[in-house]
Amino acid sequence: MTIGLYDASRDDIAAAMPNQPAYRVKQVWEALYQQFRAPTDITSLPAALRDELANVLPESLVWKTESTDETGDTVKFLWHLRDGGHPIETVLMLYPDRATVCVSTQAGCAMACGFCATGQAGFNRHLTAGEIVEQVVKAARRAQTMGRRVSNIVFMGMGEPLANEAATRAAVERIHDDIGISARHLTVSTVGIIPGIRQLAAWPLPVNLAVSLHAARDELRNELVPINKRYPIDDLVSACNDYLNERRRRVSFEWALIDRVNDTQRDANELARLCKRLRPSAHVNLIPLNPTPGWPTRGSSPQRVREFADILVGLGVNATVRRNRGTDIDAACGQLAAGQTITPVRFGRNDN
Ligand code: SAH
Repeated sequence: MTIGLYDASRDDIAAAMPNQPAYRVKQVWEALYQQFRAPTDITSLPAALRDELANVLPESLVWKTESTDETGDTVKFLWHLRDGGHPIETVLMLYPDRATVCVSTQAGCAMACGFCATGQAGFNRHLTAGEIVEQVVKAARRAQTMGRRVSNIVFMGMGEPLANEAATRAAVERIHDDIGISARHLTVSTVGIIPGIRQLAAWPLPVNLAVSLHAARDELRNELVPINKRYPIDDLVSACNDYLNERRRRVSFEWALIDRVNDTQRDANELARLCKRLRPSAHVNLIPLNPTPGWPTRGSSPQRVREFADILVGLGVNATVRRNRGTDIDAACGQLAAGQTITPVRFGRNDN
């Protein structure tokens, strides 16, 4: 198989442009990773050379559709993989003080969390490091047209980053070394794969760790996040504490609030207790569940979300309510790919 442009090393780029002076590679590298140029727009290269490069090292993501929310500060892209045609998503989120890109690490996901559209659709394949990096580059290119520079990357799109650890690590290194985003602005989000968290602790770059908790007792978490049966909460908390000790980075918990499932006083108490077992205490990100057709529950009401946050704060927990960015544009994991409102795209087991 042809390797993709963003999987190519400097040597691969040199090989794609034989008989060229050595400075060409540096020119291409900077155009790709610093200026976010499309290969056909690398105007410092002669046109024939641009075409040759694009032929030998093609891009991996084919643009399919995109949607922008009404405020214009969230853009969600849907791509198809050149290799295999599977859909993947990327989200660009603009805030006053930062611009964050949420990237996918797999086409589909094998973790089978029932409430998640990607989980419902099943697993297609791992992404390569270049396919992850290309999402960042293309989102950064779009941000540039809005006068913004991407500052943060969250590995929170489709897929489980720690089930595709090697590619995720290689993407992190490229994003850090070549695009120049510091490790403290990179966050890997996991469903809670303990061996993966242990591997993460040995990465050369200390990134932030987010854990998709959603329940603080095994009985409920087994239902919401099935991998919990293999990696139960107690062991997960130990792995998070070890990560904190070794890396001195933040650990946060993601909690999608589901109406009358995990938004009660009892849940808040259990979550607060669990947060305090981490040293320093974990930060909690609360977001109302984005409903998906395949899961018969609703997100908590805005009032309940507020109350739940207040209970946590009252118990001494650092909790932030996240805006449900782009419910109107299917921005929850896998929803754009599942084609729930935009151009129907069929894949995996999801026929919505
Ligand atoms: N597999 C990784 C990263 C991808 S999922 C992980 O589990 O962390 C990114 C986040 O979106 C997770 O916290 C996931 O639980 C959450 N999520 C998935 N579907 C959602 C939905 N319908 N509403 C709200 N959050 C959802």
